[in-house]
Amino acid sequence: MSIKTANLGFPRIGRKRELKFALETYWAGKSDETALLATACELRQRHWKLQQEHGIDAIPSNDFSLYDHVLDHAVMLGAIPEGYGWTDGPVALDTYFALARGERGGKEADCGCINPHDAGRSALEMTKWFDTNYHYLVPEFQAGQCFSLTRNRPLDAFLEAKEIGIHTRPVALGPVTFLKLGKARDGSDPLDLLDRLLPIYRQILTELHEAGADWVQIDEPCLALDLTDKERDCLTRAFSAVALAVPDLSIIVASYYGAYADNLAAALALPVDGLHIDGIRVPEELKRIVPDAPPHLTLSLGVLDGRNIWRADLDAVLRDLTPLVEQRAADRLQLAPSCSLLHLPYDLADETALDLELRASLSFATEKLEELAVLKQALSGNRDAVETRIGASVRAVAARRTSREVHDPLVEGRLKSLTPEMAKRVSPFAARKDVQARHLSLPPLPTTTIGSFPQTAEVRAARAAHQRGELSYIDYRAFLARETEAAIRWQEDIGIDVLVHGEFERNDMVQYFAEQMDGYAFTRNGWVQSYGSRCVRPPIIFGDVSRPRPMTVDWAEFAQSKTSKPVKGMLTGPVTMLQWSFVRDDIPRADVCRQIALAIRDEVSDLETAGIAIIQIDEPALREGLPLRRATWQQYLDWATESFRLSASGVADQTQIHTHMCYSEFNDIMPAIVALDADVISIETSRSKMELLNAFGDTRYPNEIGPGVYDIHSPRVPGTEEMVELLQAAAKRIDAAQLWVNPDCGLKTRGWAAVKPALANMVAAAGLLRERL
Ligand code: GLN
Ligand code: ZN
Repeated sequence: MSIKTANLGFPRIGRKRELKFALETYWAGKSDETALLATACELRQRHWKLQQEHGIDAIPSNDFSLYDHVLDHAVMLGAIPEGYGWTDGPVALDTYFALARGERGGKEADCGCINPHDAGRSALEMTKWFDTNYHYLVPEFQAGQCFSLTRNRPLDAFLEAKEIGIHTRPVALGPVTFLKLGKARDGSDPLDLLDRLLPIYRQILTELHEAGADWVQIDEPCLALDLTDKERDCLTRAFSAVALAVPDLSIIVASYYGAYADNLAAALALPVDGLHIDGIRVPEELKRIVPDAPPHLTLSLGVLDGRNIWRADLDAVLRDLTPLVEQRAADRLQLAPSCSLLHLPYDLADETALDLELRASLSFATEKLEELAVLKQALSGNRDAVETRIGASVRAVAARRTSREVHDPLVEGRLKSLTPEMAKRVSPFAARKDVQARHLSLPPLPTTTIGSFPQTAEVRAARAAHQRGELSYIDYRAFLARETEAAIRWQEDIGIDVLVHGEFERNDMVQYFAEQMDGYAFTRNGWVQSYGSRCVRPPIIFGDVSRPRPMTVDWAEFAQSKTSKPVKGMLTGPVTMLQWSFVRDDIPRADVCRQIALAIRDEVSDLETAGIAIIQIDEPALREGLPLRRATWQQYLDWATESFRLSASGVADQTQIHTHMCYSEFNDIMPAIVALDADVISIETSRSKMELLNAFGDTRYPNEIGPGVYDIHSPRVPGTEEMVELLQAAAKRIDAAQLWVNPDCGLKTRGWAAVKPALANMVAAAGLLRERL
């Protein structure tokens, strides 16, 4: 028996984003259910065949989803909250989409920040899937709720593949992870529902076995998290109950995105037949588990990075694998990516515009399958047959190590000569505050906005025309200048204190900067699902990052020249630039972040020299970057906050640094927020009725803060009184002398018709409150 290959999941959206377009056509009422389901079926079959062609032995089924696999699972189990018109039996497609997007259909807005309520009022809440940029719908539970099998999805998928002659290993989300990812509205513990779920899992597996399945993959990525004893007990109980009931069906438990660590003993003791190990995040665990795991257990070795786009040095992988493989019967081993390939673009075929050397060092989902096939050959005694491919992979990785495109001695030298002083403002905030107050002479409760103004159809059309070469550079700049000047005039007219230029020239808050930095590359078709039909195309950080020339100074200067009020310079922070990109894996993430920080530091200095007195460095992704395990939080927060300060601290005391964060919980990261030492932070708070401010009040946040008073995720125009109330609620938690008045976030997804009255009301609210101070 030779070693086998396995895949845990394949991207769903399609090579040309066929699923996205089919969904959006259906939602727009321009196609029917039959057409949508036909596209979905075609995609599934194409992806199965592709994996078969690459010789993958364990091909997943039921990894596909029309919107989200967690929602699929909830719907399958009848975990559907009241109010969606479902009582029992099969769930209609439109009920499914109502859960995903709200009754009226949510907006798929391109605002960069994902708000849990974004998808519309009556949709389920949405949140990040582990530490990825994929978002799932949060299942809702209540004490004593009943589950029922509305449809056996893994079975349907297994049979669908069987029909075209492909024997698959169906995937199902595990019961403990499913419950743990959900929320109980009544405050009960979802895990208490476990026993009600188990009979349904048994039914699913029994039916699969009867249909001819021999293996099933049950995903329990909660094993990569900090678990309580109760949670670990639940895992043991769940798998004992399920596995014993279906003894002839083999179960492989898959956890990924991190180490088993203190959950390892529990994982190894599960009465199952296989265990998947993420050998990329924690290579040591492979070495630890392979020799010691019970001999009957099949181990799936995640040896290719399922989260990143870099091609592996296959010779090095084989060197590490060979001693491990020798310690175990080959039929008890599988080679796999570290996790599902969901987080990778489809293939490299269209990336013909990329630098050849860079392209040769990349591996998207399809190429990962090829790499698996080579590894299998080499480990099955056919190394000769694949030697050229192994050689090519070695050369590709070696090229990155020495490439002059990747390594910039200036940047590397600068990184080596960093001093702690560089990450510190000249004086502490208490002293800066007075200098800035004299310099800026702002009223109490100063009003401002977060940066962007509506990206109207006209703005987008002009940018697209310019990109197509139909609108000349000069005409495009002239258009942007008119928009910017009009925005300045209008802000002056309604009496905002600190103006913004409006960001009309920007496509996206990361891409706009990445395109102007060295060390970044962009794909044509490197789409990755963010949620539902929404895909992003993360830039690739392949080399040392630097800023060859100023990136924002011209527009900032232009806007400032049109008014005597201060105009904020507007930048994206290093942590966010890092979090929303594919990051090189040959140096520590912290160092990549520091490099970006230095590039932004240069920009901050240039803005200051150009006379910009207030500079905002947005970091909406700071909290998102938190590692899965608490024990490693501090290490991350240390370099993340240091990077922010590095970008912000090259200026004189009188220059005021702002930062901005979108929807975020602050309670457990307050020391890090304080450590940013931004003079002013603006946050999203209107929807929480200022509750998010408690963390700031409780820790006596020392610097200034602008709690959002205008919910920009809604088209509704907030009234003056309502904003006064929110500000009063804020003033109960924070000294009014520290408060700023601003919306929750940028306004690019809104229309002027709502923005104008809303901001006028906001200025009026600040005015009313100043009188009462
Ligand atoms: N300055 C950005 C804007 O206003 C911030 C966006 C964000 O926080 N996601 O659009
Ligand atoms: Zn925001």
